[in-house]
Amino acid sequence: MKMIQDFNFKGRKAIVRVDFNVPLDKKTFVVTDDTRIKGALLTIKKIIGDGGSCILMSHLGRPEGRMEKYSLKPVLPVLEKYLGMQVLFADDCLGDSAVSMSAALKPGEVLLLENVRFYPEEEGKPVLPETATDEEKKAAKAAMKVKQKELAKKLAAYAEIYVNDAFGTAHRAHGTTAVIADFFPEDKRMFGYLINSELAAMDKVLKSAGRPFTAVMGGAKVSDKILIIDNLLDRVDNLIIGGGMTYTFIKAMGGKIGNSLCETDKLDVAKAVLDKAKAKGVNLLLPVDGLNADKFEADADTYVSAIDDVKDGWMGLDIGEKSIKLFEEVILKSKTVLWNGPMGVFEIEKFAKGTTAIARAVAKATENGAFTLIGGGDSVAAINKNGLADKVSYVSTGGGAMLEYMEGKKLPGIVAIRGE
Ligand code: AMP
Repeated sequence: MKMIQDFNFKGRKAIVRVDFNVPLDKKTFVVTDDTRIKGALLTIKKIIGDGGSCILMSHLGRPEGRMEKYSLKPVLPVLEKYLGMQVLFADDCLGDSAVSMSAALKPGEVLLLENVRFYPEEEGKPVLPETATDEEKKAAKAAMKVKQKELAKKLAAYAEIYVNDAFGTAHRAHGTTAVIADFFPEDKRMFGYLINSELAAMDKVLKSAGRPFTAVMGGAKVSDKILIIDNLLDRVDNLIIGGGMTYTFIKAMGGKIGNSLCETDKLDVAKAVLDKAKAKGVNLLLPVDGLNADKFEADADTYVSAIDDVKDGWMGLDIGEKSIKLFEEVILKSKTVLWNGPMGVFEIEKFAKGTTAIARAVAKATENGAFTLIGGGDSVAAINKNGLADKVSYVSTGGGAMLEYMEGKKLPGIVAIRGE
């Protein structure tokens, strides 16, 4: 597999899939968080720095056909600011202007193509009436696959080299994230710096974790996290469980959980996790106490109880002090920590203490020499909110993609370039 750092782009044209799916202000259409744009800069600078030219393609949002509110135009000024140069823009990724602008692109120049999802072929999902029969659905799916290949082929013709740096969409088998790779020989397709660093961080945790290795899993539902928990049970020394999903486990163990969040159809799943942890010798830690509230509001009345003794009508919305202490001790002794999901309803300050304490403990563990990886929108938000992003080893930019990789799944965008 070609590595971008070893490749010389001089005099060559590269088409680069980036993830510019950035949030925009609803009224002014100004980019409100440019993290993803910054994430692509290393790769773009490498290509033009070598004396190559760079054609950027991305999606933004979930448009149905061409919709101006999903235009990538608002990204231009931000990109120009960071690159310190003019960036060209083609207002249709497949139109005549895109074809001629790509052909005329000179070394050192950058061209941004309009949202690739203005074409439904990019995602490859056929739009069908609800009344469609199974036969019709099958035929439409097959026809869409052909169209997806055509879109990928047209885009591939713009350049000699394909670079994928869109980690956030690596778990999607879309035209520009996976299908396009087939139109380039093996030595002319590669990952960009962002995907390489994401893969390196995740592989370090999955394949060569320093021990003890602790996974901290939080968030709302067991059902969302069961696959990653299952995969991690084969690898970790300690598994800390917090957040709303705690209560499905507590209920499965016969505890009293009041009105706390519970997936009653997942009690067996929770029991199976407890059994597997025991069989594998994994130290599974659940909170021992919780902060309970009489309503899901900032002005709720609260009291602390044992985690398995919540009064009727009350619900646990954060972990308690004893649990914080217990979890901190384990985290601080770890050499590898993976954290995904908050310990409580951290969006409300009253219930954010547990999550903040874990964020700080993970930062402290990093200071002590541990490798720490944070993934998933809410734990990343908690790390950012506490100003700790540069105090942990790696903050993943791809929520869904990271979860799937850590579940052990093959991501189409990754497989398309490196095979397995
Ligand atoms: P997830 O997307 O699965 O990581 O879940 C994140 C969400 O879980 C956040 O919006 C939290 O507010 C929510 N959450 C965390 N702890 C609890 C809890 N004890 N009860 C209800 N919701 C919770």
